[in-house]
Amino acid sequence: MTFAATILTLYPEMFPGPLGTSLAGRALGEGRWSCSPVQIRDFATDKHKSVDDTPAGGGAGMVLRADVVASAIDSVADGRPALAMTPRGKPLTQERVRELAQGPGVTILCGRFEGFDERLFEARDIEEVSIGDYILSGGEMGALVLLDACIRLLPGVMGAASSGDDESFETGLLEYPHYTRPQIWEGRTIPQVLRSGDHAKIAAWRKRRAEIDTRSRRPDLWERHEGVRVQSPSGAQRHEDET
Ligand code: SAH
Repeated sequence: MTFAATILTLYPEMFPGPLGTSLAGRALGEGRWSCSPVQIRDFATDKHKSVDDTPAGGGAGMVLRADVVASAIDSVADGRPALAMTPRGKPLTQERVRELAQGPGVTILCGRFEGFDERLFEARDIEEVSIGDYILSGGEMGALVLLDACIRLLPGVMGAASSGDDESFETGLLEYPHYTRPQIWEGRTIPQVLRSGDHAKIAAWRKRRAEIDTRSRRPDLWERHEGVRVQSPSGAQRHEDET
């Protein structure tokens, strides 16, 4: 099945962009996903082809018109989830990425200027998504991020099918750190346990490091992880045994 990505944008030439290379580019060539950028301006109705106007209430910048953007959305409506890139949206998570990757594809609306007329989100079923607490100049980079995260999860895209399982966020924790040859670099060695060949010990070390690093680097993730564990008595017991 092909994961169909339709991107509504004022800059269709930005797609597939970097997703035309490497893993995603090969998958595109193999037909595992499709990329259909749509020019929002084609749905403008006045002679100037205007897509934006000044903000009601005053202030800097321009706002994307609800009527023009809705026409663009309606022209591609096909039952796939419609997402809009906005800093006010729900922060994107690996969990949501996984759900989307398992579906038929996505329609992504890319904002520019000050963003969209709010009535668009009242009148259409559109999920507002943020890729982080910072401001981009447009939604296109966000769409590329979201698509990249989905595409690598599509069947047959990642080399080893299992290589995603331990990944940061998949387990609720950050992943453990990695090492590779040379054995000694600038006087630093690879942790002894990783050279022991003892798979049980290696797994235990990795689990421990994932926990230690998550606790110190991402207390927010750690708290959520612990919250889940406290609710399950066997999990809580296991935790006490380790510390
Ligand atoms: N005035 C808006 C920012 C507009 S930035 C505000 O303060 O909330 C212009 C466009 O870039 C947005 O419409 C959106 O599509 C995109 N964008 C900017 N930051 C983003 C983010 N963190 N996540 C997703 N999209 C973003």
